[in-house]
Amino acid sequence: MVNLDIRNLRYLTKQDFRVLTAFEIASKNHEYVPIELLIKISKCSQSACARSISILAQFKLIKPCVSRKENGFRLTFAGADHLALKALCNRGSVQSVGNQIGVGKESDIYVVSNESHETFVLKLHRLGRTSFRAVKNTRDYLGKRKSASWQYLSRLAAEREFAYLRILFDNGFPVPKPLDQSRHCIVMEFIDAYPLRSVGAIENVSKVYSELMQLIVRLAENGLIHGDFNEFNILLADDASITIIDLPQMVSIDHKNAEEYLNRDVDCIRTFFEKKFRFKSEEWPKFSEIQRKSSLDRQVAASGHFSASKVRHYEDARIETIGDDSDVDNIQDNIEKHIVEDKSDGNCIEVEDEATVP
Ligand code: ADP
Ligand code: MG
Repeated sequence: MVNLDIRNLRYLTKQDFRVLTAFEIASKNHEYVPIELLIKISKCSQSACARSISILAQFKLIKPCVSRKENGFRLTFAGADHLALKALCNRGSVQSVGNQIGVGKESDIYVVSNESHETFVLKLHRLGRTSFRAVKNTRDYLGKRKSASWQYLSRLAAEREFAYLRILFDNGFPVPKPLDQSRHCIVMEFIDAYPLRSVGAIENVSKVYSELMQLIVRLAENGLIHGDFNEFNILLADDASITIIDLPQMVSIDHKNAEEYLNRDVDCIRTFFEKKFRFKSEEWPKFSEIQRKSSLDRQVAASGHFSASKVRHYEDARIETIGDDSDVDNIQDNIEKHIVEDKSDGNCIEVEDEATVP
């Protein structure tokens, strides 16, 4: 498991960050980055670079290659966390990190605060955690890019989720207000509510049920399907207001499997209400009855985060795993093992980088 540990953030010098940033840039084309390349990108002297590498390795922000055929280091998730947190701190979005409030299938959730002591939620996407099997099964995916970058996929997840949060929040949907995003991390409004899964009893069950179904319809009328609309991703406040979270897998109603995804969302709610609240309704939304009224799906696609190849990478890795909660703990070990065993030929997935070494 990868946990957020930024205790060492304060001990890193400007130069250490320069070298860490150089790692991120070089990761575009290399899973394991040779030291000579780092010296070139970071423009640090050989001795200064060696010193930073030793500190970064000690803090486990980079990891040496154990294969004899290759040398160099790779950026770890902890290293990527440090880069993201540093960027969020520099922008004033995060000043301190508090408790972990959630560990999802593919993310870690923390309470954070900014300089004005306002509380927010930091979501760190950890896509490799459960997507290993799906990606491994998609041979073509690994065949062409032997060193599939989990950090890249996590970053795509964060970009997608942030884009969907923005468009939905701006259009009056009940989602947390998005604040900032860097790499695989997003900062959003803290919702003081409980996942529907852990709510004991609801006063007006039929009202909550129909609100949820109406929400599915309203999203679809605007061109979108949540794709993982279940009791874990619906937050219910004490005043019975609903907030929807966890959006990176949203799809357009034009998606080839749209009907299946919409039916699955509807069925999740029906089954949950039946099992938990013994509530059965004869009414639920049907895909054929949805009338498109606007095109938020197209607007968000036009935002630049959704090029065809990015969508394909993301969907290959993500969509298959929805609803599969098993083996979460074991999978990270497999991923680590797999990455070590996997002999990179230097053709990593291309990472579009926001990092620049000044
Ligand atoms: P995952 O993709 O890993 O399932 P989620 O976005 O569903 O991650 O978040 C996991 C858990 O973290 C949620 O079930 C919820 O308890 C908590 N959580 C996530 N976002 C928020 C938020 N904005 N406010 C309050 N709690 C949140
Ligand atoms: Mg979730």
